Amino acid sequence: METRRLGSLEVGVVGLGCNNFGTRCDEAQSAKVVEAALDAGVTLFDTSDSYGPGDSERYLGKALGKHRDEVVIATKFGSPIDDDETHRGASARWVKEAVDGSLRRLGTDHIDLYQQHFPDPTVPVEETLGALDELVRAGKVREIGNSNYSGEQIDEAAEISAKQGVASFVSAQNHLNLLERGALQDVLPACERHGLGQLPYFPLASGLLTGKYTHGESPPPGTRLAANAYWASLLSDENFALVERLTAYAGSRDHTILDLAFAWLLAQPAMASVIAGATKPEQVAANVAAAEWRLTRDEVSEMDELLG
Ligand code: NAP
Repeated sequence: METRRLGSLEVGVVGLGCNNFGTRCDEAQSAKVVEAALDAGVTLFDTSDSYGPGDSERYLGKALGKHRDEVVIATKFGSPIDDDETHRGASARWVKEAVDGSLRRLGTDHIDLYQQHFPDPTVPVEETLGALDELVRAGKVREIGNSNYSGEQIDEAAEISAKQGVASFVSAQNHLNLLERGALQDVLPACERHGLGQLPYFPLASGLLTGKYTHGESPPPGTRLAANAYWASLLSDENFALVERLTAYAGSRDHTILDLAFAWLLAQPAMASVIAGATKPEQVAANVAAAEWRLTRDEVSEMDELLG
């Protein structure tokens, strides 16, 4: 698999998002998905202390087992993990406590990429970066990243890291896919300015970009978009209209919309790895195979026109 850089880390262009673990996948199913990912050459695994809460990290750590040193583990802190309001956010106190919980659950002595899940308006970024810098110096964390930051927040953090001589973010994680392209405006240019790699989340629009949903039909039972009204809201006329145009465009190139979902992301500036989620082993294998298409310059321009 093609690899790209995230600071000192090397990651394959397809990673595995692990937010289904501990929620829709039990421990045994999570292990099967991880095994399929390892078999397919996936080396980047993205989780969070808040997934499952805690179970995603536990299941992932166990499933990786003896393969731990062959992979890059990315996890996150900051989202609520229980009802205790002191167990969240980006204060130096919580950063230092949260990392030990993640290390314990993952069963590892270091986290390769430790990401702030959401900006915390109640804590100065200087404080968070200072605490993360201590974790890097202590060897608990290799690199640090942000998630759900705006372009302006990425600029501000880069400036503070440079000024204070502390660790700087090497990655950004944002909602980005063919149907949700807001991050192209400010986040990706900021990533380029400061050398951050982007790890787009919801890259398959929770499955809508895999071709398994049909306009006017109920979502297949057991799929994410069949789970509740919140997810079903993705099945809008507007989204289906674009999905149909994208499917036709991909078809005209002998590709599927799943291929296009990966190829389009991988053609964007600063793109590091597409951390698609999966609930079944065969989905991971399909995703790795789908990500082999690289758009030509002409195809990128045609896509820009199609997306408007
Ligand atoms: P996603 O990658 O857009 O969609 C994943 C879903 O798509 C899977 O659960 C599966 O749905 C379906 N799928 C995947 N491959 C498929 C295939 N080949 N054929 C058919 N269906 C397929 O969404 P995501 O997993 O939520 O996002 C990716 C990762 O980003 C997460 O796992 C998580 O690590 C991260 N994330 C981060 C944030 C943040 O705030 N930083 C937010 C959300 C997610 P079924 O469940 O129907 O099988």
